This record gives sequence, C-alpha cells and structure tokens, in this order.
Amino acid sequence: MGETLNADGTLSEQLEYVLSRSAFYKEKYAGCGITSENAANRFSELPFTEKQELLDDQEAHPPFGANLCAELAEVQRIQKTSGTSNRPVLIALTPKDIETTVSVGATCFRAAGLEPTDVVVHCLNYCLWMGGYTDHQSLERTGATVVPYGVGNTVGLVEFMFHAKPTAIHCTPSYLAKLEAVLAEQFGGASPKEFGLKKGLFAGEGGLQYPNFRQRIEEKWGLCAINANYGVSEALSMIAAECAERDGLHFMAGDALLPELIDPATTDPIPIETGAQGELVLTNLCRLAQPLIRYRTRDVISVVRAEPCDCGRSSFRFQVTGRSDEMLVVKGINVYPSAIRSVIDGFPDMLNGEYQIVVSATEPLAEIAVKAEHVAGLSPDALESLATTLGQKIRHVINIAPRVALCKEGELPRTEGKTRRVVREANDEKIGI
Ligand SMILES: [Zn+2]
Repeated sequence: MGETLNADGTLSEQLEYVLSRSAFYKEKYAGCGITSENAANRFSELPFTEKQELLDDQEAHPPFGANLCAELAEVQRIQKTSGTSNRPVLIALTPKDIETTVSVGATCFRAAGLEPTDVVVHCLNYCLWMGGYTDHQSLERTGATVVPYGVGNTVGLVEFMFHAKPTAIHCTPSYLAKLEAVLAEQFGGASPKEFGLKKGLFAGEGGLQYPNFRQRIEEKWGLCAINANYGVSEALSMIAAECAERDGLHFMAGDALLPELIDPATTDPIPIETGAQGELVLTNLCRLAQPLIRYRTRDVISVVRAEPCDCGRSSFRFQVTGRSDEMLVVKGINVYPSAIRSVIDGFPDMLNGEYQIVVSATEPLAEIAVKAEHVAGLSPDALESLATTLGQKIRHVINIAPRVALCKEGELPRTEGKTRRVVREANDEKIGI
C-alpha cells in the first residue's frame, strides 16, 4: 500500500518525498533552484502555494491534479473542499492520510469535552464534504456514541432529539436558528432547553469568538457552547478546538502540520507569539496523497496565548480574525471587517447589527467610515453618546479612529444573500457620511 513512506513525518523527509513525486511542485520550484536536496535548508524561501493554483492544476490535470503523489490504487477516499466562493478542490486521501486526519480530529473533540458517555448528533453535510463522514469518524474515535444525522429533515431531527435525548450536538452555529424556527412553528413554541442537550460542539463558521453570541446560545439552549472544530480541508480537516478554558482555539495538528504566520500584504514572516496576528500558512508533514507546502489558508488569526494552558496543553491558542482577501489597508494598517462587526455586536440593546464600512474607491485608503443602524426609541443624547463610544471602541480594536454615523432601522440597504458590508465610494472628498 505504500503506507510506510515517510513514517517519521519530519520536514526534510516530507519535502524530499514531495519533490521526488509531485510534478506540480517540481515545476513550481524549477525556476528558483529548489531541489529535494536543498528544500529543507531553504524552506523560508519556498514560494507559497495558493488555492487558485490547486484549482488550476486540477483543471489542467483532472481529477486530482499533478500534485497527486500517491498511486491511484493507494487512494482510499475522495472528498472536496466546501467551495462556497469558487469550484471545490478535490481531496484524495490514502489510508494513512485518513488515519492522521481522524486522529487529530478526535484530539480536537476530546479537548472540546466530548466523552465516551456522550451521545452526539452529527449534523454536518455528508455529501463529499470533510465535515461529514470524516468528522463522523473523529467523533467516534473519542468513544462517544455518534448519530449520523447530516443536514435536512430538521423536523425529523427535533422528533429524534425529544425521543432519544442525545447529550451533545455537532453543527454550525447558524443551524441552531433553523432548529429554533422549527420549534416555534411546528412544535408549539417548545424551548430548545427541552432537548436536554449538555454540549454544543460548533463547527464551520465564526461567531463564538464574540461573547454576546456565545452567551445568547447558552442562555437559550441551556448548554455549554464550544468552538470545537476549526479546519482547513485542503491541508488536513480539523486542526484546532477550544478546551474547557475556552480562551482561544488550541492548535492541535503539530505532528501533522507545520504552521507559520505571515503578513498578508507583504508576506513577511511573523513569529507565533502571544499577541501576534497574521495569515496562517500550513505545510503538511506527513500527508501522502496531495501534500501541500507553505499553503496560504487566507485565514488571518490572532494568537491569544503562546504559553501553556491551565488545561495542560502547551500548543498555542488563537482566534480567527478574518479573511486576508477581505482585508483593507487603511493608513498602512491592516483592518478586517469582522473586527468592526465584533464591536457592533457588543451593543445588542442599542444597535440592531446592520452596518456598513465605507472607504474610498481608490487605494491607498486614508480613512474609514462606519455606518450602523440604531434601534428605535433612543434619545438624541443617548445617540450622541453611543456614536462617541462606538467610535472609541472601534478605534481601540483597529487602531484607527473611524468616522461614525448612526442611522435609523431600515436605512441601510439589504441585499439578497450575503449583504455587502464594505462599500467603496467614488467621491474621495467625503466618504460615506
Ligand atoms: Zn487549554
């Protein structure tokens, strides 16, 4: 089966393996004098790998691309990336790749508090996506009893949970809203607390990094909400989860992935230390089928703590700050729209959560304006004070003082699907407000 290849997972052996087998990387590195002999010593010079390159490669060499390093007979499973913004990347896995993925995934779920005595309903999409069958295996590896529910037929899920009383649910945070709506409309407004769930293991979306968001879930559902599943499916699948301290996501894939941080604008390296912020770059240390070298995840993370945790784990902890492809550079400072959203979400009694970020149409950006809708019934004094406080809090988070304008509910445009949050104004004289 070829499964004995590169068993120790060291960087130099992995690079030798990749450069002796991957037509994709041989061609990519050919022009810069990188060979299997010198790649480890010149690691920091190796050009980054981008998702678009993987898509182009798979287009040119269907179905798996020229980066397939294993024989087809060694490939045991095919999955795909979720591909919300473009075509998905097909992921081929050998038995050893699957074992590594499931082992790290189980480590994440255990850290998040899943135990052999738990019964967990697994409500992610099983259709080709890593979050389905592969996460199912990781859940089982913890010793917990796993209910393979998938997505769809929410009424059936409600009936099942009332009947079988599982102790935990693994789903996206937004799926809870769907369950709440079904309870309200078809189960006489029953409370989610009646399910008796103890643990909410959440995956696939941001949100839990905002204390108000987590608190709302816990109060409404009577469970402990845990960010249990941060993953990068091109590189592995699950790679990080919160522990009981719930103070950032522990990086759990140290044996399987080499993490780096870079400045997304300059690609300069950033040391992984407390307070550091940068785009996460990953290199597979033992993947056999489609190994990646210096893969730009486009996820920007903030290192919450690099020191060992009270839970006994020593891996660094982080929050996902935003996507580097959504980053704005204002006065030379990197600004993520999601950071501004987190401030706005901190005023749930006064702001309804609708907002817009306004910048000029042309770079470089010299200023930033934020428009936010306030709830009805606030006095002029309260509005003035709210605008000042909002501006100060945003300044504290992004290190730039924004212009702030509050507007009435319904004033900002809503669009079908994803609402456009960043607006580029053609008139540079007075952006936005
Ligand atoms: Zn911990």
